[in-house]
Amino acid sequence: MTPEMVHIALLSAATLLALGFHRYRAAQVGILLLVLGQALGATSLRWEEGACRFLPLLGLLSAALPEGRLLSRRHLVWLFLLLLAVGVTLDAPERLFHSMADAAAGPLPIDGHRNVAMLWWLIAAVVAAGRVWRQGQASDAGAAAALVLAALACGGPTATSWLLSAAGACLLAGLLWGNYRMAFRDPLTGIANRRALDETLHRLSGEFRLAMVDIDHFKQFNDQYGHDAGDLVLREVAQLLARHADGKVFRYGGEEFCVVYPGTDTARAERGLEGARSIIEQRTIDVPAKSLAAKPRPASSKSSRAPRRQSVRVTISAGTAERNAQRKHAQDVLKAADQALYRAKKKGRNRVVKA
Ligand code: GH3
Ligand code: MG
Ligand code: MG
Repeated sequence: MTPEMVHIALLSAATLLALGFHRYRAAQVGILLLVLGQALGATSLRWEEGACRFLPLLGLLSAALPEGRLLSRRHLVWLFLLLLAVGVTLDAPERLFHSMADAAAGPLPIDGHRNVAMLWWLIAAVVAAGRVWRQGQASDAGAAAALVLAALACGGPTATSWLLSAAGACLLAGLLWGNYRMAFRDPLTGIANRRALDETLHRLSGEFRLAMVDIDHFKQFNDQYGHDAGDLVLREVAQLLARHADGKVFRYGGEEFCVVYPGTDTARAERGLEGARSIIEQRTIDVPAKSLAAKPRPASSKSSRAPRRQSVRVTISAGTAERNAQRKHAQDVLKAADQALYRAKKKGRNRVVKA
C-alpha cells in the first residue's frame, strides 16, 4: 500500500463516517483534504495552485458556519463553491483563473500560493478550535487538528501523504471520541450516565462502596421555579458532586446520582459525601428570572424592575453501602445504598446515612 493509498483510505473512511454521524463539518474537511491530496500529488502546477488558493477558503467556511441538515442551503452552496473552484482550476481560461486566484489570496501580506494556503488553513483551524472551546464537540477538535495538518501539508513538498493520513486519523479519532462521549455521558449534566455506571459496576471487583444521592424535594422545586431552573440546578449539583464527593459520580436517572468508591477505605465515602452535602447546602445557585415559574404579573408592574436573576438553594440526601459477605453483587450493594437513602429521607433529608 503506497502512502497515497493510505491517506485516501483514511480520509475516505473519515468522510463517510462523518456523513453517517451527521458531522457535516468534519465531512467537508475530509472532502477538502481528499481533493487537496490529489492536487498536491498532481504534476500540473495549475491544479496545485488552484487547490492552494481556493480549498483553504472553503475550509474556513466549513469551520465558521453552523452545522445544519445534509441538504441545507448552506451545504449546497458550499458544494457549489467546491465544484466551481475545481471547475475554474481545471477549465477556465488562464486570465480568469489568475484573476480569481488573486482575489482568493485576499488581503494576506505574503507571497507564494503555498504560504497563503498555509495561513488560511491555520486561520480555519483557529476558527474550528474556537468552536471546540465554545461547544466542546470532539468531531470539531478532530477537524481543527486536520486543518493544522493541511497547513503543514501545503508548507512543503515532502511527507504530504503522511500528513494527510494523520489528518484522516485525527478526523476519525474526533468522530469516534465524540460518539463514545455521546454513548457514555449525560448531555444535561455532563457527567457519566447510567450506561457508563452499568459497565463500571460490571467491572467492579474486590472491596467497594456505593452511594445513592438524591436531591431533596426536587419536584416541589420544579413546581416553584420551573423546569429550566430545575435543569440548571441539576447540572450544578452534578458538577459539585463530581468535584467534591471524592468518588466516580454517575447520573443514575432523574435527580438521582450514584457514586462509586472502589477500595477498602471505608471512611472515604462518608467523608466525601458529607463534604459535598455541606458544600451543596451552602451554595446559592443563580437562576435566570425567565426560568422562574410563569406567574402572570400585574399589568401595572414595570418589567424593568422585575429581578432578572434569583438565587436558590437545594439540599441532597445520600445512602451508602459497602460490599460484604451478605452483599456480594454490585446490584445488592446498590439496593442497600438505596434503602439507606430512603432512611435518610425519612430522618428529615439533607444527610448521609450508612447501610
Ligand atoms: P424527595 O425529597 O423525597 O426526593 O422528593 P422529590 O420531590 O425530589 O422526589 P420525587 O422522586 O418525587 O421527584 C423527583 C422529581 O425530579 C420529579 C421531576 O420533576 C424531577 N426531575 C427528574 N428529572 C429531572 C430533570 O432532568 N430535570 C428537571 N428539571 N427535573 C427533573
Ligand atoms: Mg428521586
Ligand atoms: Mg428527590
